[in-house]
Amino acid sequence: MCRSELLETVVGPARLKRSDRRTLAISILPDGSLELIAPKGATATAIQKKIEKRTRWIVKQRDAFRRMNEKRSVPRFCNGATHRYLGRQYRLKISQSNEASVSLRGAYLHVSVTQKSDDAVKKALHAWYRAKAREQFQKRIVRWEEWCRNRKLLAPKLQIKSMQKRWGSALKNGTIILNPELIHAPSACVDYVITHEICHLRHPDHGPQFIRLLTQLFPEWRRIKQRLEELN
Ligand SMILES: [Zn+2]
Repeated sequence: MCRSELLETVVGPARLKRSDRRTLAISILPDGSLELIAPKGATATAIQKKIEKRTRWIVKQRDAFRRMNEKRSVPRFCNGATHRYLGRQYRLKISQSNEASVSLRGAYLHVSVTQKSDDAVKKALHAWYRAKAREQFQKRIVRWEEWCRNRKLLAPKLQIKSMQKRWGSALKNGTIILNPELIHAPSACVDYVITHEICHLRHPDHGPQFIRLLTQLFPEWRRIKQRLEELN
């Protein structure tokens, strides 16, 4: 399942989404990345031409964001920095102790590290997110075991793997591969991606049978899919 296409342009890679709009929308995000929303029928060449015309504007925008970011320069792994877990935002509370640990308490993510540094906090958080991803995804995968058994499908097996452009994929042998980044998304989005991949165990492509099954199992999938796309 693709989040969006990646397009190489004269000003570097861009994330390309399609919509019903009639003109190309070009935006520069605060991190300097380029995002395009193109009409469904627009060709890559036509898009490239439009970008070439806007090159100066793009460079200017990026410079402005860079200057703003330099001024702010808030470390993202300090006390009070916000991080997302299953769609909710939590603030970091960092302390020192003999053992590294992370726990969720109220609106806070408590991070204990043996020696305070951004890097140590980053590492502890990364390990925690990985463990949570495994726990949360596994819990949901298990719920499909009976469904698969009743349809003579192999029991789904979870594999976690970082992927550039996908939230998940399904293999013929029942393996459901999920992107650990999904743990930051709302719970409903995690459910949707898993249901989507489960449907692939029966129908490998996105044909009408796949859509019918997905709609039956997850009626509000279009809304949730859109929510997931807006997270990027
Ligand atoms: Zn798919």
